[in-house]
Amino acid sequence: MPAPERRTLLILGGTAEAAQLARAAVAEFGPNLTVITSLAGRTSSPAPVAGAKRRGGFGGAEGLAAYLREAAIDLVIDATHPFAAQISRHARLAAAAANAPRLALLRPPWRQEAGDRWIEAPDLEEAARALPALGRRVLLTIGARGLDAFAGCEDIAFVVRLIEAPRAALPLRHAELVIGRPPFTLDEERQLLHGRAIACLVAKASGGARPAKLAAARELGLPVVMVACPPPEPGESVASVAAAMAWIAARLGTAVVVER
Ligand code: NAP
Repeated sequence: MPAPERRTLLILGGTAEAAQLARAAVAEFGPNLTVITSLAGRTSSPAPVAGAKRRGGFGGAEGLAAYLREAAIDLVIDATHPFAAQISRHARLAAAAANAPRLALLRPPWRQEAGDRWIEAPDLEEAARALPALGRRVLLTIGARGLDAFAGCEDIAFVVRLIEAPRAALPLRHAELVIGRPPFTLDEERQLLHGRAIACLVAKASGGARPAKLAAARELGLPVVMVACPPPEPGESVASVAAAMAWIAARLGTAVVVER
């Protein structure tokens, strides 16, 4: 019997789910599938990923379409963060242009639970407008991009948590930096919120595994300004790594054992 044709999967990554998927795909389909994970290159020391890796932008949707053709990509899985809307739009356009099947790996949204005090904001600007009524010491866990939206909150003392030190000065009048790589334990989150006398937390409604910061805020009775997620791109999608593995298997014409 002839050996099955070797295929190439591009995972658009930068998330824990993308890293899990790369690990599972290399382990399961390694002999028949080259797995390439693409990272934007925002952090200088990203967590390791299984398989091949590339870093940096493609140059818009056209650049990504050219890359898909040049690298002979057979399958594309967009496992980027739900707030990374631009690359997801480019992935949809480029995959269509290069005629490559594309799947989006989406995260199930978080639901408010009893005791949560969430204030929903449609965007970062609205989140900033909500803050003066909620407290004078605010923890921002929204990443480095988007901090400009809070520049006008001159009476608020911010604690800004980032994965690594920013390259430029923070655009905030009063800000203290906390550097740390998620996930954090409930105890670490309690200590951060309590120890820095935080009155309010700003988070992006990123979905997926519920981070401990939400439980810690609930325990302390703190309001959380929850910034709404942009809508996902239209197209085929799944909500788990296991389902993405089944999609790859179907495209490769092989069976996969899906753990439940
Ligand atoms: P974005 O606004 O959607 O994308 C901006 C540009 O960055 C894209 O047009 C593309 O440049 C490049 N890019 C983004 N993701 C890429 C990838 N995986 N591989 C190669 N190029 C990529 O994205 P973002 O919000 O800045 O996020 C950047 C990365 O960080 C994403 O991969 C995402 O998964 C990860 N991340 C984002 C967040 C968040 O809150 N936004 C949180 C955690 C992780 P070109 O146009 O030049 O191709």
